Amino acid sequence: MTMMASAVAEDGLEIEDSWSDFVAGRYKEGKSETEFRNYDATVVPTVAQFYKTNHQYQTYDFVMAKEKQYLSLNKGKMSIWEAAEFLNTLVDESDPDTDLTQIEHLLQTSEAIRRDGHPRWMVLAGFVHDLGKVLCLWGEPQWAVVGDTFPVGCAYSSKVVFPEYFAANTDNLVRKYRSECGIYEPNCGLRNVHMSWGHDTYIGHVMRNYLPEEALYMLRYHSFYAWHQQGAYQHLLDDHDRKMLPWVQKFNPYDLYSKGLAKPDFKELKPYYDDLINEFFPAQIEW
Ligand code: FE
Ligand code: FE
Repeated sequence: MTMMASAVAEDGLEIEDSWSDFVAGRYKEGKSETEFRNYDATVVPTVAQFYKTNHQYQTYDFVMAKEKQYLSLNKGKMSIWEAAEFLNTLVDESDPDTDLTQIEHLLQTSEAIRRDGHPRWMVLAGFVHDLGKVLCLWGEPQWAVVGDTFPVGCAYSSKVVFPEYFAANTDNLVRKYRSECGIYEPNCGLRNVHMSWGHDTYIGHVMRNYLPEEALYMLRYHSFYAWHQQGAYQHLLDDHDRKMLPWVQKFNPYDLYSKGLAKPDFKELKPYYDDLINEFFPAQIEW
C-alpha cells in the first residue's frame, strides 16, 4: 500500500506542479489572450499530455461511476488533521527542498486569506480546499484528480483549456450529449450539472454539512476555470450560481498566487487551526 501510494504520489505531484505553474501563468493578471494562446502543446508538453488523457477519458459514464464510488463516503472516518497528514504523504521525495508539501500549500492559501481579513469560514475553506486530492492515494490517476474541470453530458465549451483534445472523447458519439445544454435543462443551475471527476466535487461533498454555501462553491468549482475566469456555460447557470460566482473568484488568487510566499510555520500556526477546525467540525467526518 505504501509503495503504491508513493509511486502514485510522485507521478501525481509532477503534473500538479507543472499544472499549477501553467494555470498561474495562464491567468496572470494582464496576460493577453495572445499570450494565453502561446501555452500550446509544444510549449508545455507534460501539461498538454495530461489534458489529452483527461479530455479523452472524462466521459459522462466515467463521472457517474466515480460519483457512485466516492460520494457515498464509504472510505471511513478521518479528522481534518488526519486527512491533511494523509494527503501530505503526497510528497516528491526526490526534491523535498524546492517543493511545498501539500499542507504547506493549504496553509499558504489559508494564511493569505486570513491576512486579508476574510471571514473564518473562508480561511477554513482555504485550508481544506485541496484535501480531495486524497483520491490520488486511493489509486485514482492524476487525470481523475487534478486539472481544470468542465461539465459532462453537454457540449464542451471552446473556453475549456485544450478544447481540441475533446475530439477523442467517446461522448462525442452520443447525440444527446452534443447539444449546447445536452441532458440538462437551460439554466438548471450548476447543482444539477455533473462536472468532470476530480478533487473539487469530492471535497465539496465531504464538506457539505459543515461549511457555508459560499465556501462550498469555492471548493466545488475552484478548478472550473472556464466558468469563473472565462465566463463560459452561461446557459447552465441559475441566479444562485451567479450570486456565488464572486466568492469563487475571490478565492482563486489565494490558491494560485500564495505559492511564492514564505513557508508557513506549521507548529506556530497549529493552535489557531485547531480552534478553527473545532469550531466547524466534529472530531471526525466521513470520507
Ligand atoms: Fe485544487
Ligand atoms: Fe490548491
